[in-house]
Amino acid sequence: MRTGRKKKRPKIIGLPDFWDVLSRHENKLLALDYDGTLAPFCVQRMQAYPYPGIPGALERIHRRADTVLAIISGRPLAEVLILAGPFNGILIGSHGMEKQLSSGDIVIKTVDQTQRQGLACAQSAAEEIGLQHHIELKPASVALHTRGISPKEAARLEDLTVRIWHDISSRHGLEIRRFNGGVEVRATGWNKGDALEELRREMPPGSACVYIGDDDTDEDVFFRLRSRGYGIRVGEAGRHTAARGLLPGIPAVREFLETWADLTLPVLEEGISWIRDG
Ligand SMILES: [Mg+2]
Repeated sequence: MRTGRKKKRPKIIGLPDFWDVLSRHENKLLALDYDGTLAPFCVQRMQAYPYPGIPGALERIHRRADTVLAIISGRPLAEVLILAGPFNGILIGSHGMEKQLSSGDIVIKTVDQTQRQGLACAQSAAEEIGLQHHIELKPASVALHTRGISPKEAARLEDLTVRIWHDISSRHGLEIRRFNGGVEVRATGWNKGDALEELRREMPPGSACVYIGDDDTDEDVFFRLRSRGYGIRVGEAGRHTAARGLLPGIPAVREFLETWADLTLPVLEEGISWIRDG
């Protein structure tokens, strides 16, 4: 049996007994947001690679047979596949609309025709006011990105965009959500909380369920986990959140992952290994 390193476990603000409780669970689900959680924000969005040390820690967690590992991002799956590099867990993009299983199979949910028309209208409306270089059309949303723009101008553009998207969203089954670095109009009916719930339902009864994220769209997950798991928000203290725990930044997330990777595995029958091959 593999033993954990004698290393001090990082504190999770708000969850003082987290590691002791987690260690008692035979089965665990660990899901993570990508931007702002595993990778620092970057003006060039396709340069937002994982923080040093995080890919190695994720790989070691993936090899543990007691943990199902997933990334749930608002980015399109294709972007997460490029940025996350060799990641062997479950990859979920577009707030849950696209999923790549560990087997490599990809499952895609589709938006309905009204929503598709609404997204096209939202894209056109933003382009008509000169925002074409800040707009990204995703499978189930249109995002306005303002990272790299002065805070005052970013706020002006976001408010303006929210106003022009307001009627479009209400007529087409869409909703407007702000995120760290912009604002997005997206199809209702599916969010990160639903994506997490789908993963949770596939776990054995009594499994520990943990989600880490930094953004407002992660609140959908934190809310679902209030009574049935552990939502941990990344960032400064004092923000309103449904998360039960707090990690102060990405370096703390890396420390968290390294600790999880090194947890002593539950004792099984002699001769059975908890570590996956490869
Ligand atoms: Mg994020």
